[in-house]
Amino acid sequence: METSLYGYSGKILWIDLSKNKITSKPLRKETVLRYIGGKGLGAKIMYDEVPAGISPFDPSNPIILATGPVNGFVLSGAAKFCAVFKSPLTEAWGESQCGGYFAPQMKYAGYDAIVIVGRAKRPSYILVEDEDVKIMDATHLWGMDALETEEAIKKDQGKRFQVLSIGPAGENLVRFACINHAGGRQLGRCGAGAVMGSKKLKAVAVQGSGTVEAARPEAFEEFRRWLNEEVKEKLKVLRELGTSAIMAATYSTKTLPTRNWTEGTFEGFERINAEAVMRFVKRSKACYGCLVACGKISRIDSGPYAGTEVEGPEYETLFALGSLCGIDYLESIIKANELCDRLGLDTISAGNVIAFSMECYEKGILTDKDTGGIKLEFGNHAAVLTMLEKIAYRQGIGDVLAEGVKKASKIIGKGAEKFAVHVKGLEPPGYDPRGL
Ligand code: SF4
Repeated sequence: METSLYGYSGKILWIDLSKNKITSKPLRKETVLRYIGGKGLGAKIMYDEVPAGISPFDPSNPIILATGPVNGFVLSGAAKFCAVFKSPLTEAWGESQCGGYFAPQMKYAGYDAIVIVGRAKRPSYILVEDEDVKIMDATHLWGMDALETEEAIKKDQGKRFQVLSIGPAGENLVRFACINHAGGRQLGRCGAGAVMGSKKLKAVAVQGSGTVEAARPEAFEEFRRWLNEEVKEKLKVLRELGTSAIMAATYSTKTLPTRNWTEGTFEGFERINAEAVMRFVKRSKACYGCLVACGKISRIDSGPYAGTEVEGPEYETLFALGSLCGIDYLESIIKANELCDRLGLDTISAGNVIAFSMECYEKGILTDKDTGGIKLEFGNHAAVLTMLEKIAYRQGIGDVLAEGVKKASKIIGKGAEKFAVHVKGLEPPGYDPRGL
């Protein structure tokens, strides 16, 4: 590493699962100055290394885990890193961001980015401990849910390892499968979990013993103190209520997507808004070094879903598995959140594809024969839970919906495309642009 490259570890780790080959390359100063942050670095690697026109499930499609110059410092909001890849949903650029604790350990292990290409012959996981990098057998983990996988690796390798893992949805190449981390954080969008599944890669675990250095430590410390004071006051609502607080804004501006984007307000708003969620919240959870602690751990103590515990539900989950599907039964949304985390499904795309299928069902495009007797009506919360399992395991109509809204609408035909809401194949997040 060039000694003046502060904020970076100075190396990129390359792993080819087909060739069982592990190498590292120096990170060049001119690269990080021109392509700042994990997203910039990931884009540069993608542009240089990925052949044009490849399928997202081609072994040469990489998963690039990339960090930026503030990852590794104890600083509010500085835990986020990204995954860059060709998306199975859009078959174009795919990126996804995740908080938690993975990025600092990557930096401490000495890597600013980890580039994974190829396809393993059998289920595998990658274990990184500083310069000791191994491709491990994951046959015993294949079939486990994403949270069980993380726990199993920590039990085998030690609690200090930070783990990214996929669930059955990623193994089964569901095009909106996500990568899970730390029990409740995700690289959620664009189908990164399916790309991992296509590589027979169940997990990546990392821990490091190094540090990152600031160019001007005293100025950095001053900035850190200033930022901590700022977030205490300016992000007070996020600290107290988490992202569920966003629902009040989308509801009041009539941009809360409801019943597959046919409406912008939801009559069940008060039963699924931040105040309702807080009845289930037991404690807050912070990403590495963050004073905001916007993560909220919810638990259901009684009723049919008693014992369910999740990090969330975040606003995006509340809208996608709530108002978008016409559902105001909060306990079932929390349960659906837990199922998505375990199965490894992006809650935004999962909610969108189920809402789309509900509209198709209500319009007679999908029938009981197509759904195997499931009444896919808006508001049917039990049907949502059933559909999540069917999608993750590609059973029945779930096999079609696992393709995402755009491709599923083409398979279903009969005018279904008219009700398929997507942007070039990607299901939108929870803000109706018509009201903005
Ligand atoms: S706790 Fe919330 S605000 Fe802090 S880094 Fe994580 S996601 Fe961002």
